[in-house]
Amino acid sequence: MSQQREPAVAGLFSEEDGVRLHGAKCTTCNTPYFPKAAHCRNPDCDESKIEPCSFGGGGVLWSYSVADFPPPAPHKYDKPFVPYVIGVVDMDNGLRLVGQMADGLEAMRIGARVELAIESIYHEAGKAFTSWKFKLL
Ligand SMILES: [Zn+2]
Repeated sequence: MSQQREPAVAGLFSEEDGVRLHGAKCTTCNTPYFPKAAHCRNPDCDESKIEPCSFGGGGVLWSYSVADFPPPAPHKYDKPFVPYVIGVVDMDNGLRLVGQMADGLEAMRIGARVELAIESIYHEAGKAFTSWKFKLL
């Protein structure tokens, strides 16, 4: 029996039709934003025209660090706390995103290909609360 899944933060992503992060894009200069931005921040952009846009796919691991202490409230985590890797990924669509890595520290390699995944980050009240993560390919 699969456990009920629920996004840890509503509205940021979906997984029904493949992993999609819900951000925005400036239709004047094509700059992507996640999370959504109210205005285009590209200094070379002539006219800020922000529209909703969903992103999927993958990218390249640019850097990473290890979270070896529990995050402060209001962040939640399964106890006992298990250290995890936080990655910074240059997505193929131009975004540079931060996210938890699905794989352990020993597997990390700068420049490795990764793809987005939706996985649980903590469990509460019989549900798995999810967020986006990066998985090494
Ligand atoms: Zn723009």
